[in-house]
Amino acid sequence: MQTWTTAAYLIAALLFVVSLAGLSKHETSRSGVVFGIAGMAIALVATAVVALGSASGLGIALLLVALVIGAAIGLWRARVVEMTGMPELIALMHSFVGLAAVLVGWNGFLEVEGGEVEGDHLQLAGSLLGIHHAEVAIGVFIGAVTFTGSIIAYLKLSAKIASAPLMLPGKNGLNLGALVVFAGLTVWFVIAPQVWILAVLTVVALLLGLHLVASIGGGDMPVVVSMLNSYSGWAAAASGFLLGNDLLIITGALVGSSGAYLSYIMCKAMNRSFISVIAGGFGATASAAAAVEGEHREIDAAGVAEMLADARSVVITPGYGMAVAQAQYPVADLTRRLREQGVEVRFGVHPVAGRLPGHMNVLLAEAQVPYDIVLEMDEINDDLADTDVVLVIGANDTVNPAAAEDPGSPIAGMPVLRVWEAANVVVFKRSMATGYAGVQNPLFFRENTQMLFGDAKERVEDILAALKTLTPAG
Ligand code: NDP
Repeated sequence: MQTWTTAAYLIAALLFVVSLAGLSKHETSRSGVVFGIAGMAIALVATAVVALGSASGLGIALLLVALVIGAAIGLWRARVVEMTGMPELIALMHSFVGLAAVLVGWNGFLEVEGGEVEGDHLQLAGSLLGIHHAEVAIGVFIGAVTFTGSIIAYLKLSAKIASAPLMLPGKNGLNLGALVVFAGLTVWFVIAPQVWILAVLTVVALLLGLHLVASIGGGDMPVVVSMLNSYSGWAAAASGFLLGNDLLIITGALVGSSGAYLSYIMCKAMNRSFISVIAGGFGATASAAAAVEGEHREIDAAGVAEMLADARSVVITPGYGMAVAQAQYPVADLTRRLREQGVEVRFGVHPVAGRLPGHMNVLLAEAQVPYDIVLEMDEINDDLADTDVVLVIGANDTVNPAAAEDPGSPIAGMPVLRVWEAANVVVFKRSMATGYAGVQNPLFFRENTQMLFGDAKERVEDILAALKTLTPAG
């Protein structure tokens, strides 16, 4: 049985590696998902078979009930989740991994304390017992930080709490203090394991996770999500050590290291310090953003249609609002129509537009916008000054000039699409509300900007209708 389990775990681990490799490219991502599902199915069956072999009647019943309930909830959530709701669902799942690691850690401690542990590999004595207690403390710590951090991320991403950073006085000292207390408690726990030490350590870690993520502003949330992904991997690996489960160690390490690398790449793309973000916005100060004043100008759909009919070059910069409105289909129709009339139309996609890495690319591909006119921010930015019209469709933070011009802004330094350099800018949104980072956008008050209020999908459809009367297709 042991040999079969080891073989099944090895195959599952290999499938996870192949899955990750597949997920790294658009073309191979579907097969990457299939390999991942196959690996997880093998891992689940192998683990369940081992557990069923050694469990009591009640244990078997509980395991089956847990499997059925878990699978049912997973299937239901995956079916009903909106694309725009994916980040908060992912954050919630990370919180489950964190909670599981805390429970596994506590269980590992209580089993040894209660003398329930038997068998070769758990005949813990002397220095081995010390290692076991260190594993418990580290596993509980990572799990608890992941648990509360992910819950705060979920609340911020689902707009249940404000996305602005919490700026407690001496916040860096608090984080550092929590780490020092954790290190001290771990040493103490290894030397003299007592329930209260583990309880205090758990509370400190829960508070640290909460504070770390609460201190990070909305604009940096994409990095936080991938960072928590990484933490959840390390939490799973820690549980793997405690349970003596090799597959959990390998899978946790894969998730932990790939999540850390993704966080690093995102930090580079957003001009943020990796260390600063993982340390809960270390070095960020509560500077005041410059006041944004002025009058905005409005335009209607017929006015935009006239502007487009006269344009030679148009750039569309989509954002989260396009996803909310599901405006990608009329946007694709508008693109086709303008191109048929000889207008050069291109898209400029910011790396963190929307609420998921690659969110806009997926929506545009779904609406069959050709890949070759969808450009990344760095590819389009220098051309914006020579563009006749930029249509900002539901984007806000990713086109905010304050990031480039106001050092006091919470999003200062984040690279943005320099849409304000174009001859004309039309911003599609429903109100003058701020974007996800909660920062007012001076773009709306620029001389060359006009606001087109309303739902983005309806407004693009209105423009299409107006264009049809202005320039009937030949
Ligand atoms: P923002 O979230 O900054 O702004 C979206 C805008 O869309 C809002 O100003 C809103 O204005 C408008 N909007 C919403 N619904 C509609 C609608 N139906 N019709 C028309 N407009 C609408 O968008 P960006 O894409 O520019 O920026 C993404 C932000 O999300 C960044 O701060 C990024 O850091 C963050 N983020 C990104 C993640 C990622 O991985 N990509 C993950 C987590 C966070 P109004 O309400 O007035 O209509």
